[in-house]
Amino acid sequence: MSEVRVRIAPSPSGNLHIGTARTALFNYLFAKKNNGKFILRIEDTDADRTSQEYIDNIFDSLKALGLNWDEGPDVGGPYGPYTQSERFDIYPKYVQKLLDSGFAYECFCTPEELEQEKQEATEAKRAYVYSKKCENLTEEQKAKLRSEGRKPAIRFNIAKAQKAFHDSSILEFDDIVKGKLHMDTNLLGDFVIQKSNGAPTYNFAVVIDDALMKISHVIRGEDHISNTYKQILIFEALGFEVPKFGHLGMILAPDRSKLSKRHGATAVSDFVKQGYLTDALINFVALLGWSPSDGEEIKTVDQIAQDFRIGEISSSNSIFEYDKLKWMNGHYIKQIPIEQLKQMLKPYLTKYDLTELTDEQYTKMVEITREPLTLLSDITDAVPYFFGKDVQIDPEAQEKTLDTDVAQDVLKDFVSKAKDWDWNEENLHEKLADFRAFWKESVGIKPKVTMWAIRAAITGRTCGADMVGILEILGKEKSLYRANKAIK
Ligand code: GLU
Repeated sequence: MSEVRVRIAPSPSGNLHIGTARTALFNYLFAKKNNGKFILRIEDTDADRTSQEYIDNIFDSLKALGLNWDEGPDVGGPYGPYTQSERFDIYPKYVQKLLDSGFAYECFCTPEELEQEKQEATEAKRAYVYSKKCENLTEEQKAKLRSEGRKPAIRFNIAKAQKAFHDSSILEFDDIVKGKLHMDTNLLGDFVIQKSNGAPTYNFAVVIDDALMKISHVIRGEDHISNTYKQILIFEALGFEVPKFGHLGMILAPDRSKLSKRHGATAVSDFVKQGYLTDALINFVALLGWSPSDGEEIKTVDQIAQDFRIGEISSSNSIFEYDKLKWMNGHYIKQIPIEQLKQMLKPYLTKYDLTELTDEQYTKMVEITREPLTLLSDITDAVPYFFGKDVQIDPEAQEKTLDTDVAQDVLKDFVSKAKDWDWNEENLHEKLADFRAFWKESVGIKPKVTMWAIRAAITGRTCGADMVGILEILGKEKSLYRANKAIK
Protein backbone atom coordinates (compact mmCIF):
# COMPACT_ATOMS: atom_id res chain seq x y z
CA MET A 1 0.00 0.00 0.00
CA SER A 2 1.87 3.02 -1.13
CA GLU A 3 -0.89 5.64 -1.01
CA VAL A 4 -1.85 6.94 2.41
CA ARG A 5 -5.61 6.52 2.82
CA VAL A 6 -7.19 7.25 6.18
CA ARG A 7 -10.76 7.48 7.29
CA ILE A 8 -13.07 8.39 10.06
CA ALA A 9 -16.07 6.19 10.49
CA PRO A 10 -18.52 7.83 12.86
CA SER A 11 -21.66 6.03 13.94
CA PRO A 12 -24.54 8.49 13.62
CA SER A 13 -26.03 7.78 17.02
CA GLY A 14 -25.49 11.36 18.17
CA ASN A 15 -24.20 14.74 17.06
CA LEU A 16 -20.51 14.92 16.11
CA HIS A 17 -18.59 14.55 19.38
CA ILE A 18 -15.63 16.81 20.02
CA GLY A 19 -13.50 13.65 20.49
CA THR A 20 -14.47 12.43 17.03
CA ALA A 21 -13.57 15.87 15.71
CA ARG A 22 -10.08 15.41 17.14
CA THR A 23 -9.79 11.94 15.59
CA ALA A 24 -10.98 13.42 12.31
CA LEU A 25 -8.43 16.23 12.55
CA PHE A 26 -5.49 13.88 13.21
CA ASN A 27 -6.55 11.70 10.29
CA TYR A 28 -6.97 14.77 8.10
CA LEU A 29 -3.54 16.10 9.10
CA PHE A 30 -1.93 12.73 8.51
CA ALA A 31 -3.46 12.56 5.03
CA LYS A 32 -2.41 16.13 4.25
CA LYS A 33 1.12 15.56 5.45
CA ASN A 34 1.47 12.44 3.28
CA ASN A 35 -0.37 13.61 0.17
CA GLY A 36 -2.96 11.02 1.02
CA LYS A 37 -6.73 10.80 1.03
CA PHE A 38 -9.08 11.49 3.90
CA ILE A 39 -12.26 9.46 3.73
CA LEU A 40 -15.58 9.75 5.54
CA ARG A 41 -17.60 6.61 6.07
CA ILE A 42 -20.89 6.53 7.92
CA GLU A 43 -21.25 3.43 10.08
CA ASP A 44 -25.00 3.17 10.41
CA THR A 45 -25.36 -0.57 10.90
CA ASP A 46 -27.17 -0.03 14.19
CA ALA A 47 -30.42 1.15 12.62
CA ASP A 48 -32.15 1.72 15.97
CA ARG A 49 -29.66 4.33 17.09
CA THR A 50 -29.12 6.00 13.74
CA SER A 51 -30.89 9.09 12.44
CA GLN A 52 -30.62 11.32 9.39
CA GLU A 53 -30.45 14.31 11.70
CA TYR A 54 -27.24 12.98 13.22
CA ILE A 55 -25.80 12.19 9.80
CA ASP A 56 -26.48 15.77 8.70
CA ASN A 57 -24.96 17.04 11.93
CA ILE A 58 -21.78 15.04 11.31
CA PHE A 59 -21.48 16.43 7.77
CA ASP A 60 -22.16 20.01 8.83
CA SER A 61 -19.86 19.94 11.84
CA LEU A 62 -16.91 18.48 9.93
CA LYS A 63 -17.40 21.04 7.16
CA ALA A 64 -17.66 23.89 9.65
CA LEU A 65 -14.35 22.74 11.15
CA GLY A 66 -12.79 22.79 7.69
CA LEU A 67 -12.19 19.03 7.68
CA ASN A 68 -13.26 18.34 4.13
CA TRP A 69 -13.09 14.74 2.93
CA ASP A 70 -11.84 13.48 -0.42
CA GLU A 71 -14.23 10.54 -0.57
CA GLY A 72 -17.47 10.08 1.29
CA PRO A 73 -21.22 9.47 1.10
CA ASP A 74 -21.98 12.80 -0.54
CA VAL A 75 -18.95 13.23 -2.80
CA GLY A 76 -18.58 9.56 -3.74
CA GLY A 77 -15.24 8.04 -4.73
CA PRO A 78 -13.80 4.91 -6.30
CA TYR A 79 -14.62 2.56 -3.41
CA GLY A 80 -18.19 3.56 -2.54
CA PRO A 81 -20.81 3.45 -1.35
CA TYR A 82 -19.48 5.13 1.79
CA THR A 83 -22.51 4.48 3.97
CA GLN A 84 -22.52 1.06 5.57
CA SER A 85 -26.23 0.47 5.27
CA GLU A 86 -25.81 0.74 1.49
CA ARG A 87 -23.13 -1.93 1.56
CA PHE A 88 -25.16 -4.77 3.05
CA ASP A 89 -24.95 -6.85 -0.12
CA ILE A 90 -21.14 -6.78 0.05
CA TYR A 91 -20.66 -8.48 3.42
CA PRO A 92 -22.29 -11.95 3.01
CA LYS A 93 -19.71 -13.04 0.45
CA TYR A 94 -16.93 -12.52 2.98
CA VAL A 95 -18.89 -14.23 5.74
CA GLN A 96 -19.23 -17.21 3.43
CA LYS A 97 -15.50 -17.16 2.72
CA LEU A 98 -14.77 -17.39 6.42
CA LEU A 99 -17.32 -20.19 6.87
CA ASP A 100 -15.78 -22.10 3.98
CA SER A 101 -12.25 -21.72 5.28
CA GLY A 102 -13.29 -22.70 8.80
CA PHE A 103 -12.44 -19.34 10.34
CA ALA A 104 -16.08 -18.86 11.24
CA TYR A 105 -18.92 -21.07 12.36
CA GLU A 106 -22.66 -20.96 12.86
CA CYS A 107 -23.88 -20.42 16.38
CA PHE A 108 -27.43 -21.39 17.28
CA CYS A 109 -27.34 -20.36 20.93
CA THR A 110 -30.37 -18.38 22.04
CA PRO A 111 -30.01 -15.14 24.00
CA GLU A 112 -31.22 -17.05 27.09
CA GLU A 113 -28.51 -19.70 26.69
CA LEU A 114 -25.86 -17.04 26.29
CA GLU A 115 -27.16 -15.18 29.33
CA GLN A 116 -26.91 -18.41 31.30
CA GLU A 117 -23.26 -18.81 30.25
CA LYS A 118 -22.54 -15.24 31.28
CA GLN A 119 -24.14 -15.74 34.67
CA GLU A 120 -22.12 -18.87 35.30
CA ALA A 121 -18.95 -16.97 34.50
CA THR A 122 -19.94 -14.17 36.86
CA GLU A 123 -20.69 -16.63 39.66
CA ALA A 124 -17.38 -18.37 39.11
CA LYS A 125 -15.71 -14.94 39.07
CA ARG A 126 -14.08 -15.45 35.69
CA ALA A 127 -14.13 -13.16 32.67
CA TYR A 128 -16.76 -14.28 30.23
CA VAL A 129 -15.82 -15.68 26.84
CA TYR A 130 -18.20 -17.64 24.65
CA SER A 131 -18.02 -21.39 25.36
CA LYS A 132 -17.60 -22.35 21.70
CA LYS A 133 -20.47 -24.78 22.23
CA CYS A 134 -21.48 -24.52 18.56
CA GLU A 135 -17.98 -24.75 17.07
CA ASN A 136 -18.20 -28.41 16.12
CA LEU A 137 -21.89 -29.02 15.45
CA THR A 138 -22.52 -31.70 12.85
CA GLU A 139 -24.66 -31.02 9.79
CA GLU A 140 -27.37 -33.16 11.39
CA GLN A 141 -27.37 -31.17 14.60
CA LYS A 142 -27.52 -27.93 12.65
CA ALA A 143 -30.41 -29.21 10.54
CA LYS A 144 -32.29 -30.14 13.68
CA LEU A 145 -31.74 -26.73 15.24
CA ARG A 146 -32.87 -25.07 12.02
CA SER A 147 -36.00 -27.18 11.98
CA GLU A 148 -36.76 -25.81 15.45
CA GLY A 149 -36.86 -22.41 13.82
CA ARG A 150 -33.49 -21.24 15.11
CA LYS A 151 -31.52 -18.87 12.90
CA PRO A 152 -27.77 -18.95 13.39
CA ALA A 153 -25.46 -16.05 14.10
CA ILE A 154 -21.96 -16.41 12.69
CA ARG A 155 -18.99 -16.35 15.05
CA PHE A 156 -15.35 -15.81 14.25
CA ASN A 157 -13.04 -18.59 15.40
CA ILE A 158 -10.29 -16.70 17.19
CA ALA A 159 -8.10 -19.64 18.17
CA LYS A 160 -8.14 -21.05 14.68
CA ALA A 161 -7.12 -17.76 13.07
CA GLN A 162 -4.52 -17.10 15.74
CA LYS A 163 -2.95 -20.55 15.19
CA ALA A 164 -2.96 -20.15 11.43
CA PHE A 165 -1.07 -16.87 11.45
CA HIS A 166 0.86 -16.66 14.73
CA ASP A 167 3.18 -18.81 16.82
CA SER A 168 1.42 -18.44 20.13
CA SER A 169 -1.85 -17.12 21.48
CA ILE A 170 -0.22 -13.71 21.91
CA LEU A 171 -1.07 -11.25 19.17
CA GLU A 172 1.23 -8.27 18.85
CA PHE A 173 1.09 -5.21 16.64
CA ASP A 174 3.11 -2.06 16.24
CA ASP A 175 0.88 0.88 17.03
CA ILE A 176 2.07 4.04 15.28
CA VAL A 177 1.13 6.12 18.32
CA LYS A 178 1.58 3.78 21.27
CA GLY A 179 4.38 1.49 20.10
CA LYS A 180 4.18 -2.28 20.49
CA LEU A 181 0.94 -3.60 21.95
CA HIS A 182 -0.04 -7.20 22.59
CA MET A 183 -2.80 -9.32 23.99
CA ASP A 184 -3.54 -12.95 24.75
CA THR A 185 -6.25 -13.73 22.20
CA ASN A 186 -7.63 -16.50 24.41
CA LEU A 187 -9.27 -13.67 26.34
CA LEU A 188 -11.16 -12.34 23.34
CA GLY A 189 -13.82 -14.99 22.85
CA ASP A 190 -15.32 -16.02 19.54
CA PHE A 191 -17.30 -12.91 18.70
CA VAL A 192 -20.28 -12.59 16.38
CA ILE A 193 -19.53 -11.25 12.91
CA GLN A 194 -23.04 -11.62 11.52
CA LYS A 195 -26.15 -11.47 13.65
CA SER A 196 -28.92 -14.06 13.30
CA ASN A 197 -30.92 -11.46 11.32
CA GLY A 198 -28.13 -11.34 8.74
CA ALA A 199 -26.73 -7.93 9.72
CA PRO A 200 -22.95 -7.63 9.99
CA THR A 201 -21.49 -6.50 13.31
CA TYR A 202 -19.19 -3.51 13.66
CA ASN A 203 -15.96 -5.53 13.95
CA PHE A 204 -16.69 -7.39 10.75
CA ALA A 205 -18.09 -4.63 8.56
CA VAL A 206 -15.26 -2.30 9.55
CA VAL A 207 -12.65 -4.79 8.30
CA ILE A 208 -14.38 -5.41 5.00
CA ASP A 209 -14.85 -1.68 4.45
CA ASP A 210 -11.30 -0.75 5.47
CA ALA A 211 -9.93 -3.48 3.21
CA LEU A 212 -12.09 -2.67 0.19
CA MET A 213 -11.56 1.07 0.63
CA LYS A 214 -7.81 0.39 0.72
CA ILE A 215 -7.36 2.13 4.05
CA SER A 216 -3.63 2.24 4.82
CA HIS A 217 -3.77 3.59 8.39
CA VAL A 218 -6.54 3.29 10.96
CA ILE A 219 -6.20 6.14 13.45
CA ARG A 220 -8.85 6.18 16.17
CA GLY A 221 -9.45 6.30 19.92
CA GLU A 222 -7.76 3.85 22.24
CA ASP A 223 -11.16 2.54 23.32
CA HIS A 224 -10.93 0.50 20.11
CA ILE A 225 -7.69 -1.33 20.98
CA SER A 226 -9.42 -4.57 21.97
CA ASN A 227 -11.35 -4.42 18.68
CA THR A 228 -8.09 -4.01 16.78
CA TYR A 229 -6.92 -7.52 17.81
CA LYS A 230 -10.15 -8.99 16.52
CA GLN A 231 -9.95 -6.98 13.33
CA ILE A 232 -6.33 -7.94 12.61
CA LEU A 233 -7.32 -11.62 12.76
CA ILE A 234 -10.19 -11.06 10.32
CA PHE A 235 -7.92 -9.17 7.92
CA GLU A 236 -5.51 -12.10 8.04
CA ALA A 237 -8.18 -14.79 7.74
CA LEU A 238 -9.51 -13.12 4.60
CA GLY A 239 -6.07 -12.66 3.11
CA PHE A 240 -6.30 -8.86 3.19
CA GLU A 241 -3.29 -6.69 3.86
CA VAL A 242 -3.45 -5.48 7.46
CA PRO A 243 -3.42 -1.68 7.72
CA LYS A 244 -1.26 0.13 10.25
CA PHE A 245 -3.08 1.11 13.43
CA GLY A 246 -2.66 4.15 15.64
CA HIS A 247 -4.65 4.67 18.83
CA LEU A 248 -5.11 8.08 20.39
CA GLY A 249 -5.37 8.63 24.14
CA MET A 250 -8.79 9.48 25.49
CA ILE A 251 -10.06 12.96 26.18
CA LEU A 252 -10.96 13.31 29.84
CA ALA A 253 -12.87 15.98 31.71
CA PRO A 254 -10.98 18.20 34.18
CA ASP A 255 -12.04 15.80 36.97
CA ARG A 256 -10.40 12.98 34.97
CA SER A 257 -13.65 11.17 34.33
CA LYS A 258 -14.97 10.50 30.85
CA LEU A 259 -15.94 13.76 29.17
CA SER A 260 -19.71 13.96 29.24
CA LYS A 261 -22.56 16.44 29.01
CA ARG A 262 -22.48 17.12 32.73
CA HIS A 263 -19.07 18.79 32.24
CA GLY A 264 -20.34 21.10 29.49
CA ALA A 265 -20.86 20.85 25.77
CA THR A 266 -19.47 17.73 24.06
CA ALA A 267 -20.94 18.00 20.57
CA VAL A 268 -19.28 20.38 18.14
CA SER A 269 -22.64 21.92 17.26
CA ASP A 270 -23.36 22.61 20.95
CA PHE A 271 -20.03 24.41 21.32
CA VAL A 272 -20.92 26.48 18.27
CA LYS A 273 -24.36 27.30 19.69
CA GLN A 274 -22.69 28.47 22.88
CA GLY A 275 -20.59 30.91 20.90
CA TYR A 276 -17.35 29.03 20.28
CA LEU A 277 -15.66 29.63 16.95
CA THR A 278 -14.79 26.60 14.85
CA ASP A 279 -11.27 28.00 14.31
CA ALA A 280 -10.73 28.02 18.06
CA LEU A 281 -12.26 24.58 18.49
CA ILE A 282 -10.07 22.95 15.88
CA ASN A 283 -6.96 24.69 17.20
CA PHE A 284 -7.83 23.57 20.71
CA VAL A 285 -8.49 19.91 19.87
CA ALA A 286 -5.20 19.73 17.95
CA LEU A 287 -3.45 20.42 21.24
CA LEU A 288 -5.12 17.44 22.91
CA GLY A 289 -2.23 15.05 22.43
CA TRP A 290 -0.07 17.10 20.09
CA SER A 291 2.34 19.96 20.86
CA PRO A 292 3.75 22.40 18.34
CA SER A 293 7.54 22.23 18.07
CA ASP A 294 7.89 26.02 18.42
CA GLY A 295 5.65 26.19 21.51
CA GLU A 296 3.28 28.60 19.76
CA GLU A 297 -0.16 27.20 20.45
CA ILE A 298 -2.32 29.50 18.36
CA LYS A 299 -2.26 27.99 14.91
CA THR A 300 -4.45 27.45 11.90
CA VAL A 301 -5.02 23.94 10.57
CA ASP A 302 -2.63 24.65 7.68
CA GLN A 303 0.09 25.75 10.07
CA ILE A 304 -0.52 22.69 12.24
CA ALA A 305 -0.31 20.45 9.18
CA GLN A 306 3.20 21.70 8.43
CA ASP A 307 4.44 20.77 11.88
CA PHE A 308 2.38 17.64 12.52
CA ARG A 309 4.01 14.22 12.97
CA ILE A 310 1.84 11.30 13.95
CA GLY A 311 4.71 9.63 15.84
CA GLU A 312 4.92 12.65 18.13
CA ILE A 313 1.35 12.40 19.36
CA SER A 314 1.26 11.72 23.06
CA SER A 315 -0.05 8.26 23.83
CA SER A 316 -1.52 9.32 27.16
CA ASN A 317 -4.93 10.79 27.88
CA SER A 318 -5.55 14.52 27.53
CA ILE A 319 -7.57 16.75 29.79
CA PHE A 320 -10.23 18.87 28.17
CA GLU A 321 -9.75 22.24 29.84
CA TYR A 322 -12.84 24.31 29.10
CA ASP A 323 -11.12 27.39 30.54
CA LYS A 324 -8.28 27.11 28.09
CA LEU A 325 -10.71 26.68 25.23
CA LYS A 326 -12.53 29.82 26.39
CA TRP A 327 -9.28 31.75 26.53
CA MET A 328 -8.40 30.57 23.05
CA ASN A 329 -11.86 31.44 21.79
CA GLY A 330 -11.48 34.97 23.20
CA HIS A 331 -8.23 35.25 21.32
CA TYR A 332 -9.91 34.25 18.07
CA ILE A 333 -12.82 36.63 18.64
CA LYS A 334 -10.32 39.51 18.90
CA GLN A 335 -8.99 38.66 15.43
CA ILE A 336 -12.34 38.82 13.65
CA PRO A 337 -12.75 41.85 11.36
CA ILE A 338 -15.44 44.17 12.71
CA GLU A 339 -17.94 43.76 9.85
CA GLN A 340 -17.77 39.98 10.14
CA LEU A 341 -18.07 40.09 13.92
CA LYS A 342 -21.15 42.32 13.65
CA GLN A 343 -22.83 39.59 11.60
CA MET A 344 -21.62 36.75 13.81
CA LEU A 345 -22.99 38.40 16.94
CA LYS A 346 -26.48 38.97 15.57
CA PRO A 347 -27.81 35.50 16.49
CA TYR A 348 -26.98 36.33 20.12
CA LEU A 349 -28.76 39.67 20.04
CA THR A 350 -32.21 38.54 19.00
CA LYS A 351 -33.74 39.60 22.32
CA TYR A 352 -32.90 43.23 21.51
CA ASP A 353 -34.39 45.50 18.91
CA LEU A 354 -31.35 46.16 16.75
CA THR A 355 -33.30 48.66 14.67
CA GLU A 356 -32.94 51.08 17.61
CA LEU A 357 -29.33 51.49 16.50
CA THR A 358 -28.00 52.89 13.26
CA ASP A 359 -25.34 50.79 11.58
CA GLU A 360 -22.76 53.27 12.84
CA GLN A 361 -24.03 52.93 16.41
CA TYR A 362 -24.08 49.15 16.14
CA THR A 363 -20.48 49.18 14.90
CA LYS A 364 -19.48 51.37 17.80
CA MET A 365 -21.32 49.17 20.28
CA VAL A 366 -19.48 46.08 19.04
CA GLU A 367 -16.16 47.92 19.05
CA ILE A 368 -16.47 48.96 22.67
CA THR A 369 -17.87 45.67 23.98
CA ARG A 370 -15.82 43.06 22.09
CA GLU A 371 -12.67 43.14 24.21
CA PRO A 372 -13.77 40.93 27.13
CA LEU A 373 -15.83 38.47 25.05
CA THR A 374 -14.64 34.89 25.41
CA LEU A 375 -17.77 33.46 23.79
CA LEU A 376 -19.84 35.10 21.10
CA SER A 377 -22.82 34.51 23.38
CA ASP A 378 -21.24 36.73 26.07
CA ILE A 379 -22.50 39.65 24.02
CA THR A 380 -26.08 38.97 25.12
CA ASP A 381 -25.45 40.01 28.70
CA ALA A 382 -22.90 42.67 27.82
CA VAL A 383 -25.26 45.07 26.02
CA PRO A 384 -28.77 45.36 27.51
CA TYR A 385 -28.25 49.02 28.42
CA PHE A 386 -27.82 50.05 24.80
CA PHE A 387 -31.49 49.28 24.19
CA GLY A 388 -34.75 50.77 25.40
CA LYS A 389 -35.36 54.07 27.15
CA ASP A 390 -35.12 52.78 30.69
CA VAL A 391 -32.40 50.68 32.14
CA GLN A 392 -32.56 47.97 34.71
CA ILE A 393 -30.37 48.79 37.69
CA ASP A 394 -28.35 45.95 39.23
CA PRO A 395 -28.82 45.66 43.01
CA GLU A 396 -25.10 46.14 43.43
CA ALA A 397 -25.08 49.35 41.41
CA GLN A 398 -28.10 50.54 43.39
CA GLU A 399 -26.73 49.84 46.87
CA LYS A 400 -23.05 50.55 46.47
CA THR A 401 -23.35 53.52 44.20
CA LEU A 402 -26.71 55.12 43.51
CA ASP A 403 -27.91 55.02 47.11
CA THR A 404 -24.96 57.10 48.29
CA ASP A 405 -25.22 60.87 48.84
CA VAL A 406 -22.17 61.44 46.70
CA ALA A 407 -23.86 59.79 43.74
CA GLN A 408 -26.89 62.06 44.11
CA ASP A 409 -24.69 65.16 44.10
CA VAL A 410 -22.52 63.97 41.24
CA LEU A 411 -25.52 63.08 39.10
CA LYS A 412 -27.29 66.39 39.73
CA ASP A 413 -24.17 68.24 38.70
CA PHE A 414 -23.73 65.95 35.70
CA VAL A 415 -27.26 66.61 34.47
CA SER A 416 -26.97 70.34 34.83
CA LYS A 417 -23.62 70.53 33.04
CA ALA A 418 -24.09 67.82 30.40
CA LYS A 419 -27.25 69.33 29.00
CA ASP A 420 -25.08 71.98 27.37
CA TRP A 421 -22.37 69.63 26.06
CA ASP A 422 -21.83 68.88 22.40
CA TRP A 423 -22.55 65.17 22.19
CA ASN A 424 -19.66 63.82 20.19
CA GLU A 425 -16.84 61.52 21.16
CA GLU A 426 -14.05 64.06 21.30
CA ASN A 427 -15.99 66.61 23.26
CA LEU A 428 -17.53 64.06 25.64
CA HIS A 429 -14.07 62.78 26.36
CA GLU A 430 -12.83 66.22 27.27
CA LYS A 431 -15.91 67.24 29.25
CA LEU A 432 -15.98 64.05 31.29
CA ALA A 433 -12.29 64.51 32.10
CA ASP A 434 -12.99 68.08 33.27
CA PHE A 435 -15.99 66.85 35.25
CA ARG A 436 -13.94 64.22 37.08
CA ALA A 437 -11.17 66.72 37.74
CA PHE A 438 -13.66 69.21 39.19
CA TRP A 439 -15.08 66.64 41.62
CA LYS A 440 -11.62 65.55 42.65
CA GLU A 441 -10.19 69.00 43.17
CA SER A 442 -13.13 70.82 44.70
CA VAL A 443 -14.82 68.02 46.68
CA GLY A 444 -12.08 65.39 46.97
CA ILE A 445 -14.05 62.63 45.27
CA LYS A 446 -11.95 60.06 43.48
CA PRO A 447 -12.42 60.07 39.68
CA LYS A 448 -13.50 56.44 39.68
CA VAL A 449 -16.23 57.16 42.23
CA THR A 450 -17.52 59.99 40.06
CA MET A 451 -17.58 57.71 37.06
CA TRP A 452 -19.28 54.89 38.99
CA ALA A 453 -22.20 57.18 39.72
CA ILE A 454 -22.63 58.11 36.06
CA ARG A 455 -22.14 54.54 34.89
CA ALA A 456 -24.57 53.10 37.42
CA ALA A 457 -27.26 55.62 36.47
CA ILE A 458 -26.87 55.18 32.74
CA THR A 459 -26.03 51.49 32.40
CA GLY A 460 -27.39 50.11 35.67
CA ARG A 461 -24.01 48.50 36.26
CA THR A 462 -20.77 49.23 38.04
CA CYS A 463 -18.56 48.18 35.16
CA GLY A 464 -18.77 47.74 31.43
CA ALA A 465 -17.68 49.28 28.16
CA ASP A 466 -16.03 52.65 27.63
CA MET A 467 -18.31 55.33 29.12
CA VAL A 468 -17.74 57.92 26.41
CA GLY A 469 -18.71 55.37 23.78
CA ILE A 470 -21.83 54.41 25.70
CA LEU A 471 -22.95 58.03 26.08
CA GLU A 472 -22.31 58.69 22.43
CA ILE A 473 -24.36 55.70 21.30
CA LEU A 474 -27.25 56.44 23.67
CA GLY A 475 -27.35 60.11 22.76
CA LYS A 476 -27.88 63.10 25.02
CA GLU A 477 -31.59 62.74 25.54
CA LYS A 478 -31.59 59.13 26.68
CA SER A 479 -28.45 59.56 28.79
CA LEU A 480 -29.86 62.54 30.68
CA TYR A 481 -33.26 60.88 31.03
CA ARG A 482 -31.61 57.94 32.78
CA ALA A 483 -29.45 60.18 34.96
CA ASN A 484 -32.53 62.15 36.04
CA LYS A 485 -34.41 58.98 36.73
CA ALA A 486 -31.59 57.71 38.92
CA ILE A 487 -31.63 60.97 40.89
CA LYS A 488 -35.34 60.50 41.54
N1 GLU B 1 -18.13 3.54 14.16
C1 GLU B 1 -17.03 3.43 15.06
C2 GLU B 1 -17.18 4.50 16.12
O1 GLU B 1 -17.88 5.47 15.90
C3 GLU B 1 -15.75 3.63 14.27
C4 GLU B 1 -14.56 3.10 14.93
C5 GLU B 1 -13.43 2.98 13.97
O2 GLU B 1 -12.83 4.01 13.65
O3 GLU B 1 -13.15 1.90 13.54
O4 GLU B 1 -16.63 4.36 17.19
